[in-house]
Order: sequence, then structure tokens, then C-alpha cells
Amino acid sequence: MISFVSGAYIVSALLFILALAGLSKHETARRGNAFGMAGMALALVATLLLVVDRLTGDVVGDTTAVWVGLAIVLVAGTVGAVIGIRLARGVEMTGMPELIAMMHSFVGLAAVLVGYNTYIEVADHGAHADAIHNAEVFLGVFIGAVTFTGSIVANLKLSARMSSAPLVLPGRHLLNLAILVASAVLMVWFMLTEGWSGLAPLAVMTVLALVLGFHLVAAIGGGDMPVVVSMLNSYSGWAAAAAGFMLGNDLLIITGALVGSSGAILSYIMCRAMNRSFVSVIAGGFGSDGGSAVGAADRDYGEHREIQAGEVAELLAGASSVVITPGYGMAVAQAQYPVAEMTRRLREKGVTVRFGIHPVAGRLPGHMNVLLAEAKVPYDIVLEMDEINDDLADTDVVLVIGANDTVNPAALEEPGSPIAGMPVLEVWKARDVVVFKRSMATGYAGVQNPLFFKENTQMLFGDAKDKVNEIVAALG
Ligand code: NDP
Repeated sequence: MISFVSGAYIVSALLFILALAGLSKHETARRGNAFGMAGMALALVATLLLVVDRLTGDVVGDTTAVWVGLAIVLVAGTVGAVIGIRLARGVEMTGMPELIAMMHSFVGLAAVLVGYNTYIEVADHGAHADAIHNAEVFLGVFIGAVTFTGSIVANLKLSARMSSAPLVLPGRHLLNLAILVASAVLMVWFMLTEGWSGLAPLAVMTVLALVLGFHLVAAIGGGDMPVVVSMLNSYSGWAAAAAGFMLGNDLLIITGALVGSSGAILSYIMCRAMNRSFVSVIAGGFGSDGGSAVGAADRDYGEHREIQAGEVAELLAGASSVVITPGYGMAVAQAQYPVAEMTRRLREKGVTVRFGIHPVAGRLPGHMNVLLAEAKVPYDIVLEMDEINDDLADTDVVLVIGANDTVNPAALEEPGSPIAGMPVLEVWKARDVVVFKRSMATGYAGVQNPLFFKENTQMLFGDAKDKVNEIVAALG
């Protein structure tokens, strides 16, 4: 049985690696998902067989105990699956990041519970735990607790149930450092204890780690949340790997390491895309060191100009090159279908239409690409920010559809801005810019956007889907 399970685990691990490879490109993403699902199904079956094997081995002859044990696993698994399916089916694409953040909190909580369970098992039997085992328990609980509260705060911030403004406590970096030092001291104490006497340092560290997780994420503000989401993804992977060490489960160690390292790589890529330092992300609170959003809002940028859908249709029909830069508002309005239709009609008229995607447009990495693919926009006209930025000066019309922070020139022009230094789509360089939004409200980062007041910019107010539909109708 054990050798079958080991074999199944190796196959699952390979399927997970193929899943990650597939997910790295649009064209192969579906196949990647299928590999991931197959790997997880195989892992679940193998683990259930392992449970049966362990139970039969532990309580030779006591079949009732085997069945009770198996029933508990199956009932818990079914309840979890029902809740998971309901949540996943009901969630809007725009609500995905907060759902992901919540899932990360479960991984963190699981690592804490596994840690305590492993500790209690050894202490209860009066057995002597070796140093490596103790270190696994301590680190697993620490990472799990940080991930747990950090992810809850991320969930609350992303769902706007908690202010996205950074929590700025006096001496907050010192506070984080003090918690780390105290946890290291508690770890030494824990490693030197035997039996139940280790419970005190473990419990104190858990409370400190919960506070650290809360504080690390609470201190990060608005526009920097995408990096936090992928960073917590990475932490949840390490928490799972730690649980794998404690349980002696090789597949959990491999899967945790894959999630942990891919999350770390994604965080690094996003930090680079947003011009943030990776180390300061891990230290937390890096988003709040910039200037103040209030200062930017107070500044007088002058008047904005309005345009109507019919006039935009004329502008587009007369253009030879058009670039569309979508953002979170396109997702909210579900405007991707009329946008795809508008693109098709313009291309039929001989207009060159391309899309410029900012790495953090929307509310999760790849959000815009998924929506455009869903609406069957051809992949080859969907370009990354770096690929399109140099062409914007030669573009006739840019349509900014529900994007705001990702096209904000203040990031380049105002060193005091909270988004200063973040690369943006330089749409203002085009001949004409039309911004689709419902009001003059700010974007996620809460900063005013000088683009709206530029001479070549016109605002098309209203729901993005309605407005694009009007343009499609006017294009005929
Ligand atoms: P923004 O949040 O900056 O702006 C979206 C704009 O869409 C708003 O100004 C809003 O204006 C408009 N809008 C909302 N609903 C509609 C609608 N129905 N019709 C028309 N317009 C609408 O989005 P961006 O995509 O430009 O930037 C993403 C921001 O989110 C960045 O700050 C990023 O850091 C952050 N973020 C990104 C994550 C990621 O991983 N990609 C994760 C978490 C945060 P109005 O209300 O006036 O209509």
C-alpha cells in the first residue's frame, strides 16, 4: 500500500509541476488547470488510502475504529467540498482576490492546528521529541499564524470592509523586529523544554505571530495590495510545507514548496513591475512611506472635458490606430463582451486595435487577460505594458476603460505621490484619450489622477458596458 501511495504522490507532484507550467501561458492555461485538478484528485485518493492503512496498522483488528476514522475524514471532506463549491460558484471575478486571501487564511490556520496537534501528541505520550521535530512544530505554527491573520486583514481590505489606508503605528518597523526577536528567544526556550513545559513558549509565540500577521498587512496601503496577495500566497505555501514536515507527508512538502516559491517569484515580478523593493514588502508597511493622498487631492488640476458616446464612435472611425487600456471598472461593468464586439467592428473597418495591459490592472494578476480571453479577444493583440508603452506616442486614440491608478501620470511626475515610482501606461502621449468612468472618483489607491485634466483627454461618464454598447450601435 505504502509503495502505491508513494508512486501516486510522485505522479501528483509531476502533475502539479505541469499545472504550473501550463498556467504560465494563456494558450495552455486550461490544460494547466486540468493537470492541477487531476493531481489533486489523485492526491486525495492516495491520502485516503494512506489513512485507511495507518488506521488498520495502529489498531489491528479494531475495524470499528477504522470506519469511524474514515467516516470523520469523509464527512469533513464533503462539508469542505460543499462549502468550497458554493463559494467558488457564487464569486464574481472581481471578488476573486478576497476569496483567495480567505483560502490562504485556512492554510495558515491548518498549519497552526497541525502544529499544536503534533506537539500535543508527543507531549501526551511523554515521548522525547528531537530538535528537528521541535523546530518544525515551532516554525510551522509561526508561519501559519502570520499567514492566518495577515490573510484575514487582506480579505477585509480587498472587500472594503476595512479601510485600504495603511495603519501607521509609531515605530512600527521596530515593533515587527521586536516580535521577531522575541519569537527567536521563545524558540530557544521551546527547544530546551520537554513534555508539556513547551506549551507556554509555543502559546506566547502564537499570540505574537498572530499580531505580526495582522500588523504586517494592516500597515500596507491601497495600491500595494496586489503584492501582498501574492506574498501571502507564498507564505501559505511555506505554511503547507511546514505542515508536510510535521506530518511526514512528502506530497504536502513538495506542493507547499511549489506554492511557496511560485508565490515568491510572482511577488518579485510584481515588485519589479511596481518598482517596489522586495525586501521592504516582506518587512511590511512599505506602501505608506510615500507622500500623502490628501496633498494630491488638494491640488488644483483645472477643468476636465466631457465627450458623448456618438462623438467617440466618430473619433474611432476616423482613427488608424487605437489602443484600449482596461482596468478594474471594465470587470465591474462586465464590459469585456461589448469591448470585444467594438474591437471586431473597428478591425473590420481597417483600424488597428490593440490592448495594453498593466501588470496590476484589476484586482488580481492576470485579471484583464482572463476577461478578454473569455470574450474571445485574439491573444496576439493583447500586449503587456512594456510592449505597448513605446507605441503610445504614435497612437491616434487611447480608450481607458475603467482604469485609473494604472494610467496615472502622477506616478512618474509627482515624487510625493503614494504611487510614485510605479510604472504606468503612458496613455497621455497619444493624440486623443477617452476615459470611461462613472464619476471623478479616485481609483483603488485613493489618489487624484491628473490625466483627467490633460488637454487631450475627454471623459465619457457612465457605466462602461452601457457606453461601449452605445459606441458599438453608433459604429453600425
Ligand atoms: P482602479 O481601481 O485604479 O480604477 C478603476 C476605475 O474604474 C475607477 O476609477 C472607477 O471610477 C471605474 N469604474 C468602476 N466601476 C465602473 C463601471 N461600472 N463603469 C465604468 N467605470 C467604472 O483600477 P486599475 O485597474 O486602473 O488599477 C488597479 C488598482 O488596484 C491598482 O491601484 C492596484 O494596485 C490595485 N490592486 C490590484 C491588484 C492586482 O493584483 N491586480 C490586487 C489589489 C489591488 P468610478 O467609480 O468613477 O466609475
